[in-house]
Amino acid sequence: DPSLHHRTARHGDRLLGGLLVDGFDEESCHSRYQSAAYRRNPGRRPSPYLVSKLRRHEALQRRCGPGTAAYGNALEQLKSGRGVASPECRYIVSLPYQGLGNRILATASAFLYALLTGRVLLIDPSDGMDGLFCEPFLGATWLLPPGFPVAGYASFTNGTAETYGNMVRNKVIGADAAETPAFAYVYLHSDASAHDKSFFWDEDHQRLLRRIQWLVMRTDNYIVPGLFLAEAFRGELDAMFPEPDAVFHHLGRYLFHPNNRVWGLVTRYHDAYLAGAAQRVGIQVRVFGAQPDSPELLEQITSCTQKHKLLPEVLATGEPMPMPPPPRAKSTKAVLVTSLKPWYHEQLKSMYWEHAAATGEVVSVHQPSHEGYQRFGIESHDRKAWAEIYMLSLADALVTTSQSTFGYVAQGLAGVRPWVMYKPAGDGATTVPPDPPCGRAASMEPCFFAAPNYNLWKEQWLDASAVVPHVQRCADFAWGGLML
Ligand code: GDP
Repeated sequence: DPSLHHRTARHGDRLLGGLLVDGFDEESCHSRYQSAAYRRNPGRRPSPYLVSKLRRHEALQRRCGPGTAAYGNALEQLKSGRGVASPECRYIVSLPYQGLGNRILATASAFLYALLTGRVLLIDPSDGMDGLFCEPFLGATWLLPPGFPVAGYASFTNGTAETYGNMVRNKVIGADAAETPAFAYVYLHSDASAHDKSFFWDEDHQRLLRRIQWLVMRTDNYIVPGLFLAEAFRGELDAMFPEPDAVFHHLGRYLFHPNNRVWGLVTRYHDAYLAGAAQRVGIQVRVFGAQPDSPELLEQITSCTQKHKLLPEVLATGEPMPMPPPPRAKSTKAVLVTSLKPWYHEQLKSMYWEHAAATGEVVSVHQPSHEGYQRFGIESHDRKAWAEIYMLSLADALVTTSQSTFGYVAQGLAGVRPWVMYKPAGDGATTVPPDPPCGRAASMEPCFFAAPNYNLWKEQWLDASAVVPHVQRCADFAWGGLML
């Protein structure tokens, strides 16, 4: 069985170059050590410095996490409302929200911030984050236990008095403030104020934040390019990520292991429909529930994939067909389509049934689910989404929809630069199909949609690339920041 051979040959790298650590109970999380065997692209190697930071972080989570005396003390401090000058342990509670792609990117961002600032990371489970993943830290939990004493934290907004931005504005915190509060709410959602975004600017703000034992962070964004802009972190980040285009690639492969239920969805589908093909192509068609099926978008998909030789062209009906090669010599391509709608998959599948591929290749087209519209707070819906993101990440080549965090997570885990289908220009009524239909992404990194573009303190618009050359504008979202 060639696939078995393939799997054993790769077995040596099941720890992904030291990114993962040995010693977890394999039964409790099959994907953690099996996933390397499902990937053809072994991916980038983590730097030794990143690996050592991860090991130290795991020790920190064990020393300070839920269940320890230090955690109990820190909770008491939080309840008292008063800050403490040099706390034993510091914490960041992450409230990821929105769709699953957004939540994964937000979690990776909070984790990187935790690594940079020596904070314990705790994920709020209320948005379904406890039903999808294995625990990433050996011997410690990353889930916030029930009973967190900050009232109403899960529904804080940018208007909440405790946002870092509001505390700065109201001088509750800062040089002339009476005392350090026990916690601050770091609000970095797309509508964060310029005060909130002072988080990214200079050492002073990070020094202030350092004194606060508990941070609660809400974002739906991949804030990592913003962290590279902060002078306070640049040196550390450069040491951890000598390849700045692989930040999410490493963080994602370290943190996000499908739990056994999701891994069952991934492996059963993959083994049944995708594993045997010589080449696997993933096509992510991000549509919205109310959007009608679009022949223009279908055309964009076929022209993109054919132009870049990801899929073969087909012969017109009636065109003389070349003699098909004998069955064993045939080259096979499996196409994984993910979408909320079934129509694009049906059309592609019919096309390769009703017409012969010009190259003589065998093309099979598959779509695991079509949920119709995005649902919130439904575990089975999220499990399918996560399984599909993960299956896309096992493809050899990817075509994604622009501005989609769902696609970003897949490409980062895969370690490939996708072909990105641009949005059509126009207002919806008179859309112009984009020409060219797609372009190769400059990086496998996700785009930070809400990149800080204005420095309130210097009253300056900012060109990120002038500060850090490897942070550029995103091709699919001009206001965003992208690591190259
Ligand atoms: P984004 O909105 O494209 O940035 O991606 P998100 O993952 O943040 O939000 C979209 C959500 O819609 C997903 O998390 C799923 O719940 C759902 N969804 C969108 N596209 C698909 C798909 O192709 N397959 C599945 N199973 N769900 C999808």
